[in-house]
Amino acid sequence: MIISIDRNIYEKIKTGYLWIFANEIKKHDINDGDIVDLHYNNQFVCKAYYNSKSKISYRVISFLNKPIDLEFWFEKLSDLYNQKSRFYKGNFRWVYSEGDLLPGLIIDLFTTDQGKKVAVCMLLTLGIEKQKENIFQALRKMKIDCIIDRSDSNLRKLEGLEPRRKIEYGTIEIPFIVNIDGIDFLIDPLNGQKTGFYFDQTENRRFLKNISKGCIVLDVFSYIGTFSLYALKYGAKFVEMIDESSFASEIVPKIMKLNNFQDRYIFYKDNAFSKLRELNYLGKRFSIVIVDPPSFTKTKEKVKNALKAYFDINNNALKLVTNGGYFITSSCSQKIKENDLLEVLREVFHKQKCMAKLIYRGNQAFDHPINLSMEETNYLKFFVFQVYRDE
Ligand code: SAH
Repeated sequence: MIISIDRNIYEKIKTGYLWIFANEIKKHDINDGDIVDLHYNNQFVCKAYYNSKSKISYRVISFLNKPIDLEFWFEKLSDLYNQKSRFYKGNFRWVYSEGDLLPGLIIDLFTTDQGKKVAVCMLLTLGIEKQKENIFQALRKMKIDCIIDRSDSNLRKLEGLEPRRKIEYGTIEIPFIVNIDGIDFLIDPLNGQKTGFYFDQTENRRFLKNISKGCIVLDVFSYIGTFSLYALKYGAKFVEMIDESSFASEIVPKIMKLNNFQDRYIFYKDNAFSKLRELNYLGKRFSIVIVDPPSFTKTKEKVKNALKAYFDINNNALKLVTNGGYFITSSCSQKIKENDLLEVLREVFHKQKCMAKLIYRGNQAFDHPINLSMEETNYLKFFVFQVYRDE
């Protein structure tokens, strides 16, 4: 089926904006999940999939005038595999939805210590759900040993889809061991958060190499302790982690043992907001404090409350940093802009009469490219400060 688009939409699409909202385009009689050709001035522009149940009626999936079939997916996935392999070996975000011009699809690739390749897939939209067989077939054609379907994101509800979590193809013992940057991780894509691992902070974690030696580290919102493990590997003396997740509290001791760090950590299964107050009350101090909270808001309306939460958590975390120590803080809320967060941090430093040098500012790792036309793909903020204060 062919749908005509107006010049406005055409220009947006040609610069990489991949969504057309329901209020931007006339309604047509198309089955939900079907793929249509978008034309401008009677010329083919792109292929897009449709869903009447979503506010986003169309999402562009290809700029080639070729069918979206097994061959399409095989070529796309092969191309992205080759591109990402320039940056990372065997473990990376293989497909980052709109950032990789494939709306609705996320795939993380893991390579186990046994050399098995495991693809963990999140199918987020109906259009992508309808491509499921092609995508999985393409992965098998690429000799992926195990495919895990982790399609249980809340986003699926907006698309009228049920959640699903299962091993789709192959066999694998879960959790499996994966070595990233010389650290052994236990990955559990069925019970862990999201795909089991957060690849977006890879470059930021590597920064720890510069400052970790001999440090005592506090890792707030640690999940499986990824930042802590990097710090320990780079010579930190001891790390303390805070996370409320039971999953994390159970797997962290196993990962620490695997790396021979069993005597160099404490894990507090606790609420970060109250635990920080307690650590302050006890007068604890750390040479590095890392704060990596979950997204505090998904909507514009809640930005104000989220900023208050950022103030609270950062204020109580900063108090724990020694004079001359490092304060590292991050935000993955897409709706919070870098400057908004910096403004909050300025207030925090001001309140504590603390001087701060901004040493490093980071963003998403190279396997999470930002589609410049879609702010929606730009979400991670990361700052490293060295702080000076009277003690
Ligand atoms: N730093 C981690 C990723 C953190 S994701 C890494 O590098 O892998 C955010 C984490 O915050 C999740 O593990 C979640 O369990 C935890 N979390 C969310 N709200 C919390 C709270 N109020 N107190 C403690 N942990 C919380």
